[in-house]
Amino acid sequence: MIPAELREDRGEIDAARRGKLPKLVRLEDLRGDLHCHSRATDGRDTIEAMAKAAAARGYEYVSINDHSRHVTVAHGLDRKRLLAQVRAIDRLNARLDGITVLKSVEVDILEDGRLDLPDGVLKELDFTVCAIHYGFGYSRARQTARILRAMDNPYFSILAHPTGRLINAREAYDIDLERVLEAARERGQVLELNAQPDRLDLDDRGCRLAKEWASRSRSRPTRTERLTSISCASASTRHGAAGSNRATS
Ligand SMILES: [Zn+2]
Repeated sequence: MIPAELREDRGEIDAARRGKLPKLVRLEDLRGDLHCHSRATDGRDTIEAMAKAAAARGYEYVSINDHSRHVTVAHGLDRKRLLAQVRAIDRLNARLDGITVLKSVEVDILEDGRLDLPDGVLKELDFTVCAIHYGFGYSRARQTARILRAMDNPYFSILAHPTGRLINAREAYDIDLERVLEAARERGQVLELNAQPDRLDLDDRGCRLAKEWASRSRSRPTRTERLTSISCASASTRHGAAGSNRATS
């Protein structure tokens, strides 16, 4: 039986005959969420409420990734506010039982590829989620170079919503996804599959490409392997045939 998401004439019949169909990610495989916003920027709830909601879902961890200062429409965090949030999360973790709140940020990738907050602040975090929110119209070469430069930052961990598409609202920006995936593999970095229904970005083809690149690095444990089975509550992963050991939020 070939799961519906795999019926795309991309070799699935052959794979089924050989007993090589991938094991698809399931909701119960999810152990946490790595991209959440609190009401400090454009989320609606406090960090404590988010942590309790995540615990109620059976998650082991949840991370707080509020926007950085460049995203002024969301009242993005500057150095001082982010450091205050980091200390508040430390105090909260000391009180909470059964769930860990991870300290993070959704740091803006600026037009020239620098990150929007200094390394001295980023190093205080458990990891970073890095994203483009301005300058979508650049050429493929310029956009790719911008992202690759950001990935050279030693504190870059995850590229959020990697092509920027908003379904029925905005086309993906033009990047050389294979080069970005290659760079991520070399550096032990991760591309997000954003589970928001209007994003689902990477899409199914991107997920499949990412899986192919990840499988080429099997001999070297990377953060992709470490972040196993994390929130990827999206059909795109199943559609892209990424197995449950390859998914991240
Ligand atoms: Zn974003």
